[in-house]
Amino acid sequence: MKLRSTRGGPAVSLETALVKGLAPDGGLYVPESLPSFTPDDFGDVAARAVAIQYLTPFFAGTRLADAIAAIVDETFSFPLPLVDLSAQVSAPLHVLELFHGPTAAFKDVGARFLAACLSRLDAEVDDPRPLTILVATSGDTGGAVAAAFHGRPGIDVVVLFPEGRVSPRQQHQLCCWGDNVTSLSVAGGFDDCQALVKAAFTDPTLSTQYGCSSAFCINIGRLLPQSVYYAVASIQYCRKHGERLSFAIPTGNLGNALAAVLARAAGLPIGDILLVTNANRTVPDYFATGHYEGRASIATLASAMDVGDPSNMERLRDLFGEAQALRELGLDAVSVDDTEIREQIRRDAARFDFAWCPHSATAMYAWERHLDDAARSAPWAVVATAHPAKFETIVEPLIGDSVPVPPALADLLDRPATFSRITPSLDALAEALP
Ligand SMILES: *Cc1c(COP(=O)(O)O)cnc(C)c1O
Repeated sequence: MKLRSTRGGPAVSLETALVKGLAPDGGLYVPESLPSFTPDDFGDVAARAVAIQYLTPFFAGTRLADAIAAIVDETFSFPLPLVDLSAQVSAPLHVLELFHGPTAAFKDVGARFLAACLSRLDAEVDDPRPLTILVATSGDTGGAVAAAFHGRPGIDVVVLFPEGRVSPRQQHQLCCWGDNVTSLSVAGGFDDCQALVKAAFTDPTLSTQYGCSSAFCINIGRLLPQSVYYAVASIQYCRKHGERLSFAIPTGNLGNALAAVLARAAGLPIGDILLVTNANRTVPDYFATGHYEGRASIATLASAMDVGDPSNMERLRDLFGEAQALRELGLDAVSVDDTEIREQIRRDAARFDFAWCPHSATAMYAWERHLDDAARSAPWAVVATAHPAKFETIVEPLIGDSVPVPPALADLLDRPATFSRITPSLDALAEALP
């Protein structure tokens, strides 16, 4: 399958889009066309079989086509369960838990897929310079990418995170690697980190010296495997209950939600898709007014979603049109603020003996408070994007109890951590690069 830039220019192969990340014209790569499945096409609905079948058309004609099964096995090496909450809430509600990977957030899926693909392509890229992956992170992406690429020969990772805007355990996960991973604390917000990564790409000196760097957060290699868990959950649900499953998705840069929209457009039995932001209201305001206006991000409890100008909006609008057309596709967007996040975490700990991370709590709040009874009588899955133990400084005081740390996270917290501080300028970044 070929991909094109959202800003025009010639189509490129999947290999090029994976290695380059961003198109030379500054646009984002999108598939030229999408596969067209029907639920009946999936004979075997086991997760591995659905993953391979869903990804096959995207890999057709690429050098990775023969490696799909191996790439799927390396990526999906942990469970992504759809947990039934119906009895507790007296409505057909499930939780899609995406936090059982090595760094306890859904970013592990995209990071591991990209590492599996790039480590196979790097040997073939006709360029002796090491591949440098620059990652701007609002907290979880950087740790997932560092974990996925740590120790891979010929690939360097540079993680940029906003100083003081990530949780202590997130920061530890960003900084506990060493070797081929460099961790930089940037005096600014996530948007400054993201702008710095984009600027590094177009800077003549840096892009010559470091060659084919790749900006992870906007890489198409994040979207493809994220669509897989929506494909698996919806097809398994449909096979069992004969109904489409709708999703409420905690949203920042819109990479997770766009993956669901892609899976739906490719014919998977997905119903409505509710984009749930924190107090950064850019996307809900766009759905309400039809007028898109990116802005500076504000800090919230769901810090991995503190994005004021989501990069994947460019892909969403390019592929599927403007607000009115997006509504007709079953999309809508709502905002949930910090008071509501706190309220949901407290209430559900008392009701179900169950802790949400602050990001996942936004989606549960939206399902409960923004949908009417008719909407809630249809099957929904609230998407849980991170484990609450990553945000224990927020969650534990609210629930008045400790949150057990999953073993993989405990291992990382035992490693020593170091990082350097930089100002948000290209000169400072250039000096800090390996
Ligand atoms: C990154 C992240 C989000 C937002 O995902 P996007 O793909 O940027 O919309 C939500 N929750 C958690 C825990 C995250 O790490």
